[in-house]
Amino acid sequence: MKYYDKLIFELSKEGRCGYSLPSNGWDASLTELPAGLARAKEPALPQVSEPDVVRHYTNLSQMNFGVDSGFYPLGSCTMKYNPKINEEISAHPGFAGLHPLQPASTVQGALRLYRDLSHALSAITGMAEFTLNPFAGAHGELTGLMVIRRYHMSRGDSRRTRIIVPDSAHGTNPASAAVCGLEIVVVKSKENGLVDVDDLRPLLDDTIAGIMMTNPNTLGLFEKDIKEIAALVHECGGLLYYDGANMNPLMGVVRPGDMGFDVMHLNLHKTFSTPHGGGGPGAGPVGVAAHLVQHLPAPKVMEAEDGSLYVAGDDGQACGRISGFMGNFGVLLRAYTYILMIGRQNIRMVGPLSVLGANYVKESLRDCFRLPVPTVCKHEFVFDGLLDQSTGVTTLDVAKRLLDYGFHAPTIYFPLLFHQAIMIEPTETESKETLDCFINMMRHIAAEALSDPDTLKTAPHTTPVRRLDETTAARQPVLRYHSETSF
Ligand SMILES: *Cc1c(COP(=O)(O)O)cnc(C)c1O
Repeated sequence: MKYYDKLIFELSKEGRCGYSLPSNGWDASLTELPAGLARAKEPALPQVSEPDVVRHYTNLSQMNFGVDSGFYPLGSCTMKYNPKINEEISAHPGFAGLHPLQPASTVQGALRLYRDLSHALSAITGMAEFTLNPFAGAHGELTGLMVIRRYHMSRGDSRRTRIIVPDSAHGTNPASAAVCGLEIVVVKSKENGLVDVDDLRPLLDDTIAGIMMTNPNTLGLFEKDIKEIAALVHECGGLLYYDGANMNPLMGVVRPGDMGFDVMHLNLHKTFSTPHGGGGPGAGPVGVAAHLVQHLPAPKVMEAEDGSLYVAGDDGQACGRISGFMGNFGVLLRAYTYILMIGRQNIRMVGPLSVLGANYVKESLRDCFRLPVPTVCKHEFVFDGLLDQSTGVTTLDVAKRLLDYGFHAPTIYFPLLFHQAIMIEPTETESKETLDCFINMMRHIAAEALSDPDTLKTAPHTTPVRRLDETTAARQPVLRYHSETSF
């Protein structure tokens, strides 16, 4: 049994004390809770020494995996280096201590940062204006679709209630469309993984609100027919939505605005740092072309005649309000810092480097893993399991074995187009030495699959928790410590 297998409650010894606070010298009657509000019984908190408490939290932190502890090739997520200055800036008391209800005159700096960041995102993407209010990519999708609905309604075009989504799309696309009250129409992909333009044409009529596209798509492939698709959708009166979660490989190379997109979201917690394991926090700013600016959600940051900034509510044209205040300000700060730290020149290197890294890993492993779409990829690519599948070793086994070697697993069983999908995204911030180490481990695992398949099928062996029954873990999670004593 390892030390950390014992819970802090189990280490408790009656009367042991980690730290005692000095008396504050105040009259107890001033600081005691009123009788009716106090507990009947002292809470059964663990009684442990200071080192026990420190070890408890340190060990808990080491049972997790993060970008600060190792390589994280999670496809579709862009887990990049988070410059430590991001943390310093976002923790600055002048930012961290702000209250969202402060008068605008006292938060001019924060409002300017909001506006400057949205201008930077406009320059990077070619959109006219951004709102930074949405809290995540999926929240941005919902906001963008609300803008599209508002646009059609404002023109009296109430028949447009259907939205086209490719079968390769991220699951949040159809989910957001459904939440927005739109009916989903699926367009198929061709053998080569790209949207089938011939399948798209007959779907286009005057009930189509628009199309949601991800480019490069979830297979990491650039939709090279995008100009033709844009022309066809615009011709039928629909709008183009760009899922910008995959903006990483395009940064500084191509802009969604120039590809013909009307509305888009970015995942600041992917493309602009802020690691987001465990579900947050995030930011999903939405950018729109000039003809949709008035439909962006309230509140908005506006400039008064004297040059000061203020927060404006809904003027009746907005698509509504999608967040209480102005978004996840801490994540916005990190993205702003990241953009300024990289600078205008170097931001052009992000895209090409992410593409180079992904293709390097792909080409170095394709003699061990099945590569269903063997073309040049963008920032990520998908294998369909091991090349030699005779031993019955699955993608899940490979992913679990990687944990034994200190790597986070890639995304597995997504996208749904391939049964044994392994989706790898190295991200541009990783060195060639790290990529080589990962490549060697993946090759080693492919060899193990032939020589010792049972070790893979029972992996992981070195992690705090071994292989879980994932269905039970998801359906009946044990989230609380149960004991005889009540806490
Ligand atoms: C991550 C992702 C999303 C959803 O973003 P969240 O911030 O997780 O809501 C949408 N589309 C694609 C392609 C993504 O990779």
